[in-house]
Amino acid sequence: MSHDNDTNFRAPKDESLHLKHFTDLGLAEPLLRAVSAEGYTKPTPIQVGVIPAMLAGRDIVGIAQTGTGKTAAFVLPILHQLTFERTRPAQTSCGALILAPTRELAAQIADNIRTYAQFMHLSVAVVVGGVKPRAQIRAMARGVDILVATPGRLEDHMSTGVIRIDEAKTIVLDEADQMMDFGFMPAIRRIMAKLPTQRQTILLSATMPRQIRALARDFLDNPAEISVAPQSKPIELIDQKVYFVGKQAKRQLLEELLQRDDINRAIVFTRTKHGANKVVVNLEKHGLEAAAIHGNKSQSQRVKTLKAFRNGELNILIATDIAARGIDIDDITHIINYELPNIPESYVHRIGRTARAGKSGVAISLCDGTERGFLRDIEKLIGRALDRETSAYSDTYDETQESLPANPRNNGGGRGRRRNGGSGKQKSQNHGKPKAANGGQGRNGKPGQKHKRGNKHRAA
Ligand code: AMP
Repeated sequence: MSHDNDTNFRAPKDESLHLKHFTDLGLAEPLLRAVSAEGYTKPTPIQVGVIPAMLAGRDIVGIAQTGTGKTAAFVLPILHQLTFERTRPAQTSCGALILAPTRELAAQIADNIRTYAQFMHLSVAVVVGGVKPRAQIRAMARGVDILVATPGRLEDHMSTGVIRIDEAKTIVLDEADQMMDFGFMPAIRRIMAKLPTQRQTILLSATMPRQIRALARDFLDNPAEISVAPQSKPIELIDQKVYFVGKQAKRQLLEELLQRDDINRAIVFTRTKHGANKVVVNLEKHGLEAAAIHGNKSQSQRVKTLKAFRNGELNILIATDIAARGIDIDDITHIINYELPNIPESYVHRIGRTARAGKSGVAISLCDGTERGFLRDIEKLIGRALDRETSAYSDTYDETQESLPANPRNNGGGRGRRRNGGSGKQKSQNHGKPKAANGGQGRNGKPGQKHKRGNKHRAA
């Protein structure tokens, strides 16, 4: 079993990270062809760190955000192993299992697998909530090479015996911190316990709260720890601004901002599903076409909306944190935080949707009087102040309003009880503390069955 100080593999120094070529990494030829067909000229730092370590059979703890190329970092070595695989997985089982927090991320990982495996023959199945189980059962019946799943639905299928994971040779936990935030930790631990002991385990997380460290200690064997892209790095290219504005005037300000010429493709974030729906209705009233994705939308609606946004038919997407997590869509010019997130790390995840692949991007936050504390936490986390902008609505800002309490137990859904039982009137206790949201304070300490089930259906 490993401890933090056993993690004796480090990614090479920055310079060498950038010098490597894909051909230096020892990947099979069909994969080199696929990355080249994708237009990748050289591996990203996380790929330079993870790919050789995975090919050497190491367990891995990878600290990386979306946008760093982390998906290819774990998918390519899995595919590489499969090029040597001569036996098919047994009925209802999988050769590799990838767990992800949301349906969208699971679907995106599966898409990436298909892209990188375009010159290979292999089978991939996606098992997520929000859709009927029958097609998933059928897809798994003959066994698949790679199964991408969200934990809740996977457990459902395991409990009815239609999916087995006891032959999985590789397991990836992607966005482990987010899975923890969604209350999946008990499910993950139960799933891990059913895997064979002889396996390779990869854990990826944007942050490393105490519970994730504990998960790694309990289930990984002497992992290589590969950490790239500290949180401030990917967001350096993003122009980050904040408008102070009254709650009621946010609507008008948003409309005006969205009508600016330089906004080609924008995601507008709200904290709640209800808030997202309201923004859509208001924008539509003013002739701006927008659509929302959040946990109350059916899977087919979410897929349809994302497709329209991806192919440019829809330019304004309204999203909650959960639904947007991990979404990889190019050329998003603007992120607008219509409501500031109550967990500061969510701000980093939100704005990471823009400025992809070295492009620049703009992140605009609308902060009302109750969100001052959230802004303070965000600025503390990213280590800089957002640029202050003024608008015709600056006068509507009321700084005498009481701050909403930061760091509730659940983010995104607006349905979670606040940890200290606060009603929106309560003053925050946490604003002075750095990294309040992920300080490993047992956010998931007592997940309980009720909490887990609720989150399962919401997130997956
Ligand atoms: P991810 O961090 O996995 O969400 O990946 C972010 C984006 O980077 C995706 O659009 C990938 O297609 C892209 N990507 C991954 N690896 C590379 C690479 N070596 N060169 C250029 N783009 C890449």
